[in-house]
Amino acid sequence: MTPGRTPVQDTLVQRSGKLWIANEYVDGSGPRTPVLNPATDETIGELTQATAAEIDAAVALANRAQREWWSMSALDRATALHLVADRMSSLSRTTGECLTREMGKPFRESNWEGGASASAFRYYAEIARHEQGRVAGPAIAGQLHMVLKEPLGTIVSIVPFNFPMLLFGWQAAAALAAGNAVIVKPSELTSLTILTLMEAFDLLPAGLVQVVTGGAEVGQRLVAHERTHGVAFTGSVPAAQAVARSAAERFKPTLIEASGNDPFIVMPTAPLDAAARGAAFAAFLNCGQVCTSAERFYVHADIYDRFLEALTQQAKSLRVGNGLGAVDIGPMASHRERDRVERIVARAVEQGAIVRTGARRPPHEPRGAFYEPTVLEVRAHFDIMRGECFGPLAPICRVDSLDEALALANDSQLGLGANIYTEDLSEAFRAINELETGIVWVNTPLNDNDAIPFGGRKFTGAGRELGAEGLDQFRRSKMVMIAPTAQPDPEWFPYPDRDAFGQ
Ligand code: NAD
Repeated sequence: MTPGRTPVQDTLVQRSGKLWIANEYVDGSGPRTPVLNPATDETIGELTQATAAEIDAAVALANRAQREWWSMSALDRATALHLVADRMSSLSRTTGECLTREMGKPFRESNWEGGASASAFRYYAEIARHEQGRVAGPAIAGQLHMVLKEPLGTIVSIVPFNFPMLLFGWQAAAALAAGNAVIVKPSELTSLTILTLMEAFDLLPAGLVQVVTGGAEVGQRLVAHERTHGVAFTGSVPAAQAVARSAAERFKPTLIEASGNDPFIVMPTAPLDAAARGAAFAAFLNCGQVCTSAERFYVHADIYDRFLEALTQQAKSLRVGNGLGAVDIGPMASHRERDRVERIVARAVEQGAIVRTGARRPPHEPRGAFYEPTVLEVRAHFDIMRGECFGPLAPICRVDSLDEALALANDSQLGLGANIYTEDLSEAFRAINELETGIVWVNTPLNDNDAIPFGGRKFTGAGRELGAEGLDQFRRSKMVMIAPTAQPDPEWFPYPDRDAFGQ
């Protein structure tokens, strides 16, 4: 260990410029770029851009490993995935520190990610061996007619920076359990963490899970590759569209989880303290860099002033600082992300937004990509309410009725999640039935469950992760019919004369 440094700091340096190929860290031969800690602006390592030859070699290895994996029994695959989960859980403090140093989120959140990802592996280890297709009532007496579920082959997993271990885990657990190999292309901002996480995977057949790092070009080459067979993408809408277009050329199945712009409705029956605390968590968790962040608040006029005051107090009480300290909010993942959020706030103010708190860099953090939790009063037509902000912003709009709140909530190109706080059951039922999103949370923001499918509508994407539905994203059906003996079929030639036209 280098004096004055933690072991994880050394690990980050050791993982620099590496790829994870055939269960080993190997030096990448492509160009390198520095990796910065967004809390301190210090260089913590380097990222390599995988070359075309490295990608081709990884794909060839993945296809070989996939055949070995699929030749094993379902029980042996499940046992191996449980062992991976155990190791991910034991590694979680190490990978947590890596993640906080690499993208800034508080250690509590990055430590949680390793365990949450392991939970998806445990779930899919069991679900996948529970069934591998089904037997249909035969259309011909005495025969066996069934659908067999088979793996697609090699899956390309492209993940963003905000929950890199969790989102890789959701994709990879289902894909591996279904019998596939996985090549992951992590975000440029969190590649060293994903590389470190691979210590949990070296008991699987060599090449079954591999990491190739780099930017959009690396992702595109993997998606377009003639020997990859399915794509799981989580990220922004423009990148998702590029990936979906490329995959469509070869009719590759795609799972697309793209941006969100989730509404958060607060009605008069909501207990204000719980609603304001839930709102602060939904808006500011991970510095607002959550696909299901509450991005648009629609608050009923009867409680508007009191809710605004309570949320503003919540935002002011949050401790902003280095994610390795006792804080609630870390920096944004990069200066580029903070610059983007600053432009969104400047535009909102130009359109007439009133700043209740935040809207600035914290004076006590002169370095890093910090931004204060921000509460703004806005009108429904402001730009800030139209797209995804992906930052620590809570723009609040007054509404006069549930009808108005639901209409505004649905007036969006995106459709991931939606929240409503109410203790009026009829309002909750209306929200569940009328919101045009893939997820509705009633009084319980941002939660998920391995056993229930997660995903969105509209430009947010297509397909589902988690649940039994998530497994089927990575399987194809094969129709199989078996006659017990090889007998001639009365339907065959020659046709009897009595069936001719006019008989
Ligand atoms: P991003 O789209 O910039 O990058 C995501 C990944 O795609 C990265 O690995 C990136 O290198 C890669 N990529 C970018 N362009 C590509 C291309 N043309 N071809 C192939 N790969 C490409 O997203 P980000 O900034 O890392 O993450 C934030 C976005 O992710 C937000 O929009 C957020 O809403 C979304 N997200 C969605 C979900 C969900 O479940 N719906 C979950 C988390 C994050």
